[in-house]
Amino acid sequence: ARIGDLLAAKRTLSFEFFPPKTNQARLTLGKTVGDLEALEPDFVSITYGAGGSDRHRTGDVVGWMRDETTLEPMAHLTCQGHTRTEVASLLVDYRKRGVANILALGGDAPADGTAGKSDYTYALDLLHDVAASQSFSIGVAAHPEVHPRSESRAADRRHLADKMRLADFAITQFFFEVEHYERLVDEMAALGIDKPIVPGIMPITNKAQISRMAEMSGAALPTWLVDRLGYVDDPVHVRRLGIELASKLCNDLIAAGAPGLHIYTLNRSATAKEIVANLELATV
Ligand code: FAD
Repeated sequence: ARIGDLLAAKRTLSFEFFPPKTNQARLTLGKTVGDLEALEPDFVSITYGAGGSDRHRTGDVVGWMRDETTLEPMAHLTCQGHTRTEVASLLVDYRKRGVANILALGGDAPADGTAGKSDYTYALDLLHDVAASQSFSIGVAAHPEVHPRSESRAADRRHLADKMRLADFAITQFFFEVEHYERLVDEMAALGIDKPIVPGIMPITNKAQISRMAEMSGAALPTWLVDRLGYVDDPVHVRRLGIELASKLCNDLIAAGAPGLHIYTLNRSATAKEIVANLELATV
């Protein structure tokens, strides 16, 4: 199924995974996918390593999901570090494997300077090529708190609007307050964009990890959140607080009219399951 069509029909529930690198991690993902399949998500997505480092791993996971599970997979694809020829051959592979959905991303240059030759700079360049293949429902990334490399908030929104005119939907970077999402949706509406913007939710399960990820993504950890995390140290309590906050954010987003909820799982099922159990609308 095409995610664009799914979003037109109902509020979606989706989960994000990353491709495992070790046998142990493969077993964990297999178990996680089995657990979460029972929740009947509308689709799932598989990330892609910057510069193509996970090229085959992403394709393998997506292909396995199509063949062996009931899940509808979306393959992430980042374009920095890729040539047009490489992207064309990846798209042919995905089409052959029956993959119907691609998240078209810019990606980041690898920190170690090992970037290969690149025919692309921005996600929009890739989007043109994916759209030209006429084979996929296409999503793009949105950054509620503005992407760290944007010249300004207005420029960030203009570039996103350019992407959304070609894509079917957007999925957001994570954030911790519903106001960031509402403001993004309003700003896109002011630019004439009313396609679905699905919020991405990152449950906090580990204090050091969430600080690191927030810094990389440009998401702010609000003072009230830092304060509340300051009161807990024991990992069990951190996780419980993370589930409570993510569940509240999801319910706030449903009330704000979000067209779907996309939960970052970090390849674990327990947290995502508890959050879904806490959702207030059976229609999710
Ligand atoms: P772009 O849309 O290219 O934007 C990047 C920056 O360039 C922005 O600041 C934008 O404002 C600016 N810009 C765009 N066009 C122009 C222009 N013409 N002139 C000047 N500036 C411009 N990373 C991975 O490596 N693998 C993944 O699987 C992955 N999945 C993700 C999933 C989601 C839902 C999200 C939100 C992010 C994901 N990322 C992933 C991270 C993403 O690759 C980085 O955030 C990356 O830095 C930006 O990607 P983008 O697609 O938003 O890029």
